[in-house]
Amino acid sequence: MKQDNIETIRHSLSHVLAAAVLEMFPEAKLGIGPAIENGFYYDFDLPRTLIPEDLSILKKKMRAIINSDSHFARLEVTINQAHDLIDTSDQVYKKELIDDLKKEGEKKISFFRTGNFVDLCKGPHVEKTADLKNFGWKLDKIAGAYWKGSEKNKMLQRIYGLAFKTKKELDEFLKNREEAEKRDHRKLGTDLDLFSFHKEGPGFPFWHPKGMILWNILLDWWREEHQKASYQEIKTPIILSRDLWEKSGHWDHYKENMYFTKIDDRDFAVKPMNCPGSILYYKEKLHSYREFPLRIAEIGLVHRHELPGVLHGLLRVRAFHQDDAHIFCTEKQIESEVSDIIDLTDKMYSRLGLKYHIEFCTRPESGSIGTDEIWQKAEKSLKNVLAERKIDYKLNPGNAAFYGPKIDFHIKDAIGRTWQLGTIQLDFAMPERFDLNYIDSNSKEKQPVMIHRVIFGAIERFIGILIEHFAGAFPVWLAPVQTIVLPISEKHNAYADKIIKELKNQEIRAEIDNRNESIGRKIRDAELQKIPYMLIVGDKEIAAKKIAVRIRQLADGKGDEGQFSLDKIIKEILEAK
Ligand SMILES: [Zn+2]
Ligand SMILES: [Zn+2]
Repeated sequence: MKQDNIETIRHSLSHVLAAAVLEMFPEAKLGIGPAIENGFYYDFDLPRTLIPEDLSILKKKMRAIINSDSHFARLEVTINQAHDLIDTSDQVYKKELIDDLKKEGEKKISFFRTGNFVDLCKGPHVEKTADLKNFGWKLDKIAGAYWKGSEKNKMLQRIYGLAFKTKKELDEFLKNREEAEKRDHRKLGTDLDLFSFHKEGPGFPFWHPKGMILWNILLDWWREEHQKASYQEIKTPIILSRDLWEKSGHWDHYKENMYFTKIDDRDFAVKPMNCPGSILYYKEKLHSYREFPLRIAEIGLVHRHELPGVLHGLLRVRAFHQDDAHIFCTEKQIESEVSDIIDLTDKMYSRLGLKYHIEFCTRPESGSIGTDEIWQKAEKSLKNVLAERKIDYKLNPGNAAFYGPKIDFHIKDAIGRTWQLGTIQLDFAMPERFDLNYIDSNSKEKQPVMIHRVIFGAIERFIGILIEHFAGAFPVWLAPVQTIVLPISEKHNAYADKIIKELKNQEIRAEIDNRNESIGRKIRDAELQKIPYMLIVGDKEIAAKKIAVRIRQLADGKGDEGQFSLDKIIKEILEAK
C-alpha cells in the first residue's frame, strides 16, 4: 500500500463526511471540504440546524462507508459535461464553483466518486475508503461559516473533523487542546479584567486599566532597552495620502488589507505599515554617514483588514501597534546591525523565558519588487550573519516580504505551540523608490539600506501570547497586581490600609480586599486573579507587627509561607525578576 500523506487522509475523510451527511439529509447542498491543520471540514446548507447528537450518528455512517471499502474513482470531464455528473439545479454551490472554474478558463475538471457519492474535486485521495480505517479521527464540532468566507453570502453549517496518523496522536492533541482552552487569553482577559471586544468595533481591542498596566510595563521596558541600544523614537500619522502608498508599493501589493478615506476630495489610506511614515521623516533633512546606523523606532498604530471569520481575540485583530524600527545604514553596516538586532531580540525574549528558533525567508515567487541582483545581495547578507554566528535556522523559501528577505523569530510557548514574533527585514527597494540618500565620507551622495524590524511584533498579539504562555500568572515584575492585602475581618482594615499605603509608596502595585467575606473566600478569589503575593493581616499579625504571606499556587506548589516583616516582602517584590 502506498504511504498517503496526512493531508490526503484528512481530505479523503471530508468526502466520507459529505457522503454521510447526504445519507442523513438527501436535500443537503454541499459547499467545500478541504484538509486543514489537524483535520478537515466540510460546509453544508442543511434543512435544519445540526445538534451535537448528529455528530455521533454521522460518525457511525462514516464508519460504515469506510468499512464498505469503496474506491475513490477519478472522472475527468469537459467543463460542459460537468453538469451531467452533479445535479447542479440542486447543488447550487457546486454549480457556482464550476462556473468559477469556467471563468478561470479551465477546460477540463475532475470529479471523484466513492460509492454513490460524487464530488467536484482535484484530489488527491486515498485509493479506497478502507485505507482510512487505522487513523485516529473524530468529528469535532459544528460551526457557522459564510459561503466563500464573505458575510454577504449565506451562512452555512460547517462540520469540523480531527485526523491524525495514530489514535495516540489524536489523544495527545485533545489533551493539549484542553490545556490550551484553560489558557485561552480571551477567557483570561475577561477573568483578569485586562481587555474586551465590542460589536461596535470588531477586531478593535479595548484595553482596561489592568491591561494598560501590563501594556505600559512592557513598553517602559522596551523603551529602556531601545534607548540603551541607541534607538530614537518617533511618531507618525495614521492617515496618509494615496500617492505615498502608490509610491511605497502598498497600493499595488497590499490594497486588499487596507482601509481608505477621503479628506477634502483627496484619497487617503489608513496606514497598514509604518515604513512610509518613517521614510518621510528620514527625508526631512540631508543625512551624513556619520549618523549611521540611524535607528528610528516607532510604536506605530496600524490597521489591516481581516475577514470577520478569522478574527480571534488579541491574536488576530484589525488594529494593532507594532514595536517597529527602521534602521538606515550603509551596506557595510548591514551585518553588524542585523547581528545587534538578534542580540537585542534574544535579550528581551530571554527575560520573559521565551525559547525560540530562527527562520530565514527568501524571495516570494511572485509579487516582489526589486531586481534579481538586489535580492541576491540582500539574501546573502542575512545568510552571512546567520553563518558567522553559527545560528541554526530553518529555511522558509518564498516567504519574504515583497520588498526584501527576512529573518523571523518563532517562539515556543509553555505548552509547545510556536508563534512567529520578531522579524528583521532587509530592504534595498524602498530607499530606491523614495530616492533616499546620504552623504558618504567622500562627500558623495549614496543610497542607504533600510532594515525593518520588530521584536514583539503586534503588541496586542504579543500580550495575547504572553497571557496564554503564563496562563495569566505573570512574573512578579509584569503582574498588573503584584500583591493584595487581605484583612481577616473588618477590624483589621485600618492596619491593612496602612500596609497598602506603604506598598504604594514603594511603587508596588497593590490592592486591598476589604469586602465583608471570609478569609478563605478572599484567598480563593486572589488565587483566581493569579496575584503573586497575598498578604494576610489579623490579630496575630498586628500584635507581631508582621504580615502572613501566601504565594499564589502555581505548578511549584507554593502556598503559606509564614509571617514576615513588611520590609522583607517589599524587598522581595521589588527584586523579583
Ligand atoms: Zn476531494
Ligand atoms: Zn517597515
